[in-house]
Amino acid sequence: MIPQTAVKIVCEACSGTGLYSGFGEQSGTAVVCSSCNGTGGKTFFYTPFKLRKIRKNITKVFERNNGYVLGEASKGGLTYNEWASGMSFFGREERDTVCPHLHNQRFEVEGCKDVALGQRIDTCPQFKNKSRCWAEYDKRKGI
Ligand SMILES: [Zn+2]
Repeated sequence: MIPQTAVKIVCEACSGTGLYSGFGEQSGTAVVCSSCNGTGGKTFFYTPFKLRKIRKNITKVFERNNGYVLGEASKGGLTYNEWASGMSFFGREERDTVCPHLHNQRFEVEGCKDVALGQRIDTCPQFKNKSRCWAEYDKRKGI
């Protein structure tokens, strides 16, 4: 059993008034809030965070899914233990299948904008030479 903490909070449904006045109630009338039974408050139970829990059934962790099916045999990613120890994903992206722009949409090299709106980024004329884009990515990341 996970220990829970209880705290009294303002009822969000009625903003703490204990009354609800919606489309079915004409001006000047209200009904008792069914969410808090008219008290205006509710008890909220939560589990305070202490430490991240361990996932025993995960062996490999990727920073994100870039639109391809990921498996334990997929290149890139970290082992669960590497990830759990705080290791960076930098250099462990799926560089064989995605370009840096697909991995991180905020990263662009000259030509990224040439991909027509609505087109998949892997239609980019530079996609087949994406190792050059990754080299630029590394350079900007300080390697
Ligand atoms: Zn209420």
